[in-house]
Amino acid sequence: MNTTGNAKRGRVIAIDGPSGAGKSTIARGIGSRLGLLHVDSGALYRIMTLAALRASIDCNDAAAVADFCTRVDVRFVVRNGAVAYLVNGEEPGDAIRTPEINANVSPVSKVPEVRAKVNEWLHSMRALGDLVVEGRDIGSVVFPDAIARFYLDASPEARARRRHLEEVAKGMAAQSEEAVKAALRARDKIDSTRKTAPLTIADGAVVIDSTALSIDEVLAIVEEHSRAAL
Ligand code: C5P
Repeated sequence: MNTTGNAKRGRVIAIDGPSGAGKSTIARGIGSRLGLLHVDSGALYRIMTLAALRASIDCNDAAAVADFCTRVDVRFVVRNGAVAYLVNGEEPGDAIRTPEINANVSPVSKVPEVRAKVNEWLHSMRALGDLVVEGRDIGSVVFPDAIARFYLDASPEARARRRHLEEVAKGMAAQSEEAVKAALRARDKIDSTRKTAPLTIADGAVVIDSTALSIDEVLAIVEEHSRAAL
């Protein structure tokens, strides 16, 4: 992929917020309405975590994770309006969405070397076209020149209920809603208090609390602001 100064640089719409706030649903929906490629940055941190666990790296050993992360190789392909990730030629699928990954991804994503590597991948994706990127630090740190930025939130109860329903629908509900809520809170705490690129509301972000809104209502707000910026 060409990442030199002459490379094509797609525009970016940034959608940040805590887990379960609806970022993926909204980012996918906006991507398909406006013809932008959907990029899930959390999946890249999850891939790092899966790779570390498979290599028997202790995810709480920051030095070991920092050393290991430079060796993780991910390829990008455009598929169904999104950037898909290939690890050893295969998409990891739901292997990156297990309770074990949920429990280990925040310690891994705290490591500055991991963040540097993921950011390098994300920056290179601009060569693929205009993007809608979801994450925690997309509008604040990764793409400070994003043309529109959003911060999506919802009550902890609503977020846990949505995540639990998603897991039930996928047939992978290993935990009660209460346990999902506790895991989300633990992750939020690490994500918003870490030193490097914590979860925060980017300057100029449109803040949307989706607790009492339908998907269509949130999409309408994001679409209106995004169209004005494009
Ligand atoms: O969005 P998702 O819940 O899949 O993200 C998984 C984890 O990846 C988050 O809890 C956070 O630790 C990390 N992450 C991050 N920065 C991003 C996206 C995700 O630190 N831009």
